[in-house]
Amino acid sequence: MRTLIAAPWRWARSWALWQAPRHVVAYVLAVEVIAVATTVGTAGLMQIRGTDLIYAGMLCAGAWLHIEGVRPTERQRERGAGAGPYLDTKAVWSVAAALILPPLLASAVVVVTYTIAWLRIWPRRQRPLDLFRWVFSAATILLGTQAAIAVLALGLPTYPGLPRPTWAGFADLAVIAAAFGLRWLLNYGLVVAAILVSSPNTRLAKVLENFHEQSQEIGAYAFGLLAAALAVTNPPLLLAVVVGVVAVHRGLLLHQFRTASRTDSKTGFHTLEWWFQAARQALDRARVHGSGLAVLIADLDHFKQVNDTYGHVGGDRALEAVARALRTEVRDYDIVGRWGGEEFVVLLLDVDERQTRAIAERIRERVHSLKVILEPAGDSPPRTITDLTISIGATLIPHDSADTLDEAIRAADAALYAVKEAGRNRVKLTYLMPPRHPDA
Ligand code: GH3
Ligand code: MG
Ligand code: MG
Repeated sequence: MRTLIAAPWRWARSWALWQAPRHVVAYVLAVEVIAVATTVGTAGLMQIRGTDLIYAGMLCAGAWLHIEGVRPTERQRERGAGAGPYLDTKAVWSVAAALILPPLLASAVVVVTYTIAWLRIWPRRQRPLDLFRWVFSAATILLGTQAAIAVLALGLPTYPGLPRPTWAGFADLAVIAAAFGLRWLLNYGLVVAAILVSSPNTRLAKVLENFHEQSQEIGAYAFGLLAAALAVTNPPLLLAVVVGVVAVHRGLLLHQFRTASRTDSKTGFHTLEWWFQAARQALDRARVHGSGLAVLIADLDHFKQVNDTYGHVGGDRALEAVARALRTEVRDYDIVGRWGGEEFVVLLLDVDERQTRAIAERIRERVHSLKVILEPAGDSPPRTITDLTISIGATLIPHDSADTLDEAIRAADAALYAVKEAGRNRVKLTYLMPPRHPDA
């Protein structure tokens, strides 16, 4: 008997959750307790009929096939997950369940789906140690599901079931949209809050940077409505939903890879290869439209000293801050790349000499005014990096220039070199062709 209690106790004590700071543990546990409480609260709302069990079984089978179809994709996606909330296409099955099943079974489908995913996506020996993240994420889904159920129970005359197949069905659809909109909001909000609570130094903008991808999560909800309709009317066709969802789901990874291969992770700028591709296309367009362009090459001054003084991690924070400053001072449509190390390359679109000089000066001044506050290490007080400076070489490419991008870059690089020789923290402008206004 004693070992029977001791084994789970030892297991529970080994949870990674307890390693987290106390406020994170409190937040995670609070969400889980509320999720369980609300689940118990809605459980008795409706009686379960025999057909409900069959529907629940079909949805769980659909979820299982879906998960089998995306196992390798999921593993990669979890490893490569960015800073923000993670897209969960399993929502298809829990949304369908919340619509057509009594609350208790809808909750059961959530739990079963998450359990299958946990067991099947990770081979036993590769399972991540932080099971609690997984449990937390299931709890947010459970909580969202209860919120949706509450709205459906209040507003949908046919609940649990499909909307009415008449004009009144559009009103039902509005209730369904409200219910699952609320589910999404709760789910997203709780996960964003969890990220911010557990890593307070993450910027909100970073967490929200892939917000547009949430449209795919909403797409999964739409698939969920179709799955609900098919489960009730034509179960064999559920297989079509599985195939469709698996295909879309695999596409997510492709999208992630494509973005990752174009983006430098430290700065969020284009990688050099992708920058060249984008810049060449822009150059072709500029020739057609007759607009001027400019190339900037910017290199931080004495950055080795920054590394020497503040360490490589400090240097990295400074580099990220400079990247953000640079992004703020150029326009959305300018093409920014990381040339390598602490050097950046920018193609300014549709600019003349005056604008180019103004933008380059703004970048220079903004970098100079940066204050990068470093996280305190141990007991030492936080340190602030100031006095960063950057040198910029720029080349104007007139619209009728036949010269190539490579030549513009060579000229900008030479200008940068001249700035470094002349004392740094300056901008130097050069031209591919003699300037029209020799007053510059
Ligand atoms: P200069 O004013 O002549 O440019 O001096 P510098 O010290 O900046 O010299 P240079 O541009 O040649 O050296 C770049 C240094 O930047 C070398 C390297 O240690 C550092 N560096 C390059 N990439 C990174 C990075 O991603 N993170 C950090 N922390 N340091 C980097
Ligand atoms: Mg440098
Ligand atoms: Mg350099």
